[in-house]
Amino acid sequence: MAMVKIGAVMSKDVLTAHKEDTVMSMLERLQKHRIGAIVVINKDNVAIGIITERDIIQALVIYKEETFKKQAQDIMSAPVLTLDPEQDIDSAAILMTLNGIRRIPITRENKLVGLITYRDLTNALRKSYYVLEEKAELLQDMANKDPLTGLFNKRFINDELKRQFDAAKETGASMAVIMIDIDHFKKVNDTYGHPCGDHVLKTLSQILLAKSRDINVVGRYGGEEFIIIGPISDHKSSLYFAERIRMVVESTPFFCETKEFKITISAGVCVWNSKMKDAKTMIKLADDALYAAKKAGRNCVKTADMVEV
Ligand code: GH3
Ligand code: MG
Ligand code: MG
Repeated sequence: MAMVKIGAVMSKDVLTAHKEDTVMSMLERLQKHRIGAIVVINKDNVAIGIITERDIIQALVIYKEETFKKQAQDIMSAPVLTLDPEQDIDSAAILMTLNGIRRIPITRENKLVGLITYRDLTNALRKSYYVLEEKAELLQDMANKDPLTGLFNKRFINDELKRQFDAAKETGASMAVIMIDIDHFKKVNDTYGHPCGDHVLKTLSQILLAKSRDINVVGRYGGEEFIIIGPISDHKSSLYFAERIRMVVESTPFFCETKEFKITISAGVCVWNSKMKDAKTMIKLADDALYAAKKAGRNCVKTADMVEV
């Protein structure tokens, strides 16, 4: 709530009356505008009193039908409590609570500029809650995501991998890590330029997301290195999954301005097993498998068990 100024949330359309106006004329205007209060001002636009529906009811009890002929000055509450638009809305909430009132005229150098009501305060509260939620989400994203591709960053991936590794140890539900690296990416940069290289990274990220399931966690692990974590339980299905991605990339045309070209990727897969010491071991084994794929001529997938034997 802090730091929201009254001026930003107050109602600017305020009903005003002069001290000689009759209660009847004010009542008609209150009903026409469906507003619960009217601010009494003098000819210099200085708030000198306030009349709420409650004041009119109270007057009716005392003056009966005579009330309607009374003037604003006869029944208004004065002096009137006012606040400055530059003040924090917290001060309006406090003043309303302490004085048991629902509205406070807002004045700047004594001149009436608005009215703050319970409704304005609750609206402001609701909006500031949404703003806070959005900010929290944005901060979370900035901490967990890679700004270029929007994929999860290395830090998040390492945390997530540890979480999944520990869960696998506890429940025996298997998982796998697929490490993907673009082949000869340096050449793409050298031939088409760095911005084009960035474009390739972004496009490849979209392919990886499109080919993964919601349950997979897709991240950018380094410059042109990506990782997918998923609930895969054996080498055959992990190989199949990575192969499918490899084939899609191989056949996807990439565009840079007017030029069209293709890229390929290599991948290394490590499937969890109970003998593995920790999450880092899985990264190391996936990386070894990736290295083996590079060595085998690139544009292929290797699994950690192929490397071990
Ligand atoms: P290999 O097949 O062995 O993986 O060869 P490579 O050229 O892909 O690998 P290398 O490690 O030699 O080069 C990686 C290149 O990736 C070098 C670096 O400039 C580039 N790179 C890293 N991060 C970015 C990035 O954010 N944007 C762009 N455009 N290029 C990047
Ligand atoms: Mg590479
Ligand atoms: Mg690399």
